[in-house]
Amino acid sequence: MTPQILFSIFAFIFGAVVGSFLNVCICRLPRNESVVSPPSHCPNCDYQIRWYDNIPLVSYLLLGGKCRGCQTKISIQYPLVELLNGLLCLALFLRFGPTLAFCALFIFCSALVVITFIDIEHQIIPDEISLSGIVIGFVFSFFLRGHGWLNSLLGILLGGGSLLLVANAYQWLTGKEGMGGGDIKLLAMMGAFLGWKSIPFIIFASSLVGSVIGVALMLVQKKDSKLAIPFGPYLAFGAVLYIFFGHRLITWYLTLGGFQG
Ligand SMILES: [Zn+2]
Repeated sequence: MTPQILFSIFAFIFGAVVGSFLNVCICRLPRNESVVSPPSHCPNCDYQIRWYDNIPLVSYLLLGGKCRGCQTKISIQYPLVELLNGLLCLALFLRFGPTLAFCALFIFCSALVVITFIDIEHQIIPDEISLSGIVIGFVFSFFLRGHGWLNSLLGILLGGGSLLLVANAYQWLTGKEGMGGGDIKLLAMMGAFLGWKSIPFIIFASSLVGSVIGVALMLVQKKDSKLAIPFGPYLAFGAVLYIFFGHRLITWYLTLGGFQG
């Protein structure tokens, strides 16, 4: 086995282990509970989950997706978050190697995973994550080569500002409140980590994906279009797309329009 493969396996496992902690955050942050204590327990029978029942992905499969204490079904969300975070960590490692950029983006993507699942379930984005994310992203920008604090600062302002503008325009045009303050802080956090150039891309990509899925959901549900579809997950998707394909997609788009080579 080459070191590269060994490190890749390690990256996946590391991402999945962190994913296990993210599950705790997804569960407890919206309820304002501590994420460090008490130890994890079954929400149904209070069975305290032992370390051997808490191995990412493996335990879920060994237990057949059921609690060891009371046989209640464990939500598929737990292994899903672990798998997703493992894959994100692996992909970031393969793309950026063992660098500081990898560390920053792994923290960033883990935050996006938590935000996505909380936003889908509760339609909120916790300030604990988005506001501290803005600060962490800005601090990283001083140490990342080719990034720069000014780039990060402009990202925060453009990210927060542009969505504030869109939200106000939407409210003015429709008389309804479209985007929440949570989305605005989330986009500011994205600008802090990814720089100002990422913002137009993220808004464009997330709106595109959001409207396609929104229309599809409306067709499936027939008349009931009242269902609140949170925008955070689309922004998160746009940001991940930007990390891995942003540069290539922008170049491709400009070539398509005849602006370049
Ligand atoms: Zn139980």
